[in-house]
Amino acid sequence: MHDVVIIGAGPAGLSAAFWCDELGLDTVLLEQDAGIGGQLLSVYNPIENYLGLRAHNGRELLERFSAGIDEADFDLWTNVEIESVDLKAKRIALRSGEELQSISIIIATGVRRRQLGIPGEDEFAGRGVIESATRDRDLFAGRDVCVVGGGDAAAENALLLAEVCPTVTLVCRGKTLRARREFTERLLGTHCITVFTEAMVQRILGNDEVEAVEILREDALKPFQMAVGGVLIRVGVEPNTELFREQLPLDERGYIPVSGDQETSVANVFAIGDVSHPLAPTISGATGAGATAAKVIGSRLNSDRKGSRRGTEQEIAKTGRA
Ligand SMILES: Cc1cc2nc3c(=O)[nH]c(=O)nc-3n(C[C@H](O)[C@H](O)[C@H](O)COP(=O)(O)OP(=O)(O)OC[C@H]3O[C@@H](n4cnc5c(N)ncnc54)[C@H](O)[C@@H]3O)c2cc1C
Repeated sequence: MHDVVIIGAGPAGLSAAFWCDELGLDTVLLEQDAGIGGQLLSVYNPIENYLGLRAHNGRELLERFSAGIDEADFDLWTNVEIESVDLKAKRIALRSGEELQSISIIIATGVRRRQLGIPGEDEFAGRGVIESATRDRDLFAGRDVCVVGGGDAAAENALLLAEVCPTVTLVCRGKTLRARREFTERLLGTHCITVFTEAMVQRILGNDEVEAVEILREDALKPFQMAVGGVLIRVGVEPNTELFREQLPLDERGYIPVSGDQETSVANVFAIGDVSHPLAPTISGATGAGATAAKVIGSRLNSDRKGSRRGTEQEIAKTGRA
């Protein structure tokens, strides 16, 4: 029986694990990927908004976050595939056949990039579907590219690609871009960027690499093909909550509602970081929520344990037997 099992080793889960360890709790941290860090692994831009730290990218920040992990006393299991979770019983079954039982569970499974779900999207991953403009810009220099999405991330990536690509076509489903004004003004002022609103990319086409996209505009009857050498997709994120769907009420977008203590509607089950739909999904918010959940669990368990120790001491005093 463990005190806490934490699911997900992004900033939120890591922070919770270090805090639980400091509070003397028997803690297991489960991560589905081969490495820890969550979204930090896909941050290629400098991080300058984590108080007191500046990092060139997410990996550098992760190195700072992981300092001391070898000496910490919590168990970290990576490459873990969870088969099922019984939140009420606090039982977690792994695909490997192992089962974990704990007193509390912390869900820190974060979010993943939403996919378009169109033909060619998975097929051309790494072969023309661009992961990040910051990281891959030089590889796509000189090629015409398409960016899909209408928010800040799409606009920011389009602006970065426009520095090295002859043309950038931004395709957005909505009537207007959702990106902040600073970005939309710069987009409109950049001559090599064309914006198609009320339009959808329906297919990504090519042979060995991306060669074209098929676009359908809302006011057109038929889609048209546009030759491009790269496509970058930024159409938002979605929470990793499939495992808990049957056991927890989720909000309309699939996130986990929590109380001010980060507790879900199931007692002693907590959700922290991006998966709990914070108003501002940030690294500092995620690490703070990890600390909150750990402190709440620590104070509950430690007061239970003190209570039962006191009970035993009273029993011994009464009976004279240890
Ligand atoms: C490009 C980019 C730039 C960003 N820049 C900034 C910035 O400058 N400043 C800032 O504050 N924030 C920034 N963010 C946001 C920040 O990275 C997130 O808010 C933060 O990572 C959230 O941490 P988290 O631990 O809640 O979730 P995540 O980082 O998403 O981690 C969740 C972890 O859970 C694991 N997991 C999921 N499901 C399971 C499962 N079933 N079993 C086991 N493990 C599972 C995942 O593999 C992952 O490791 C940026 C994000 C991106 C993508």
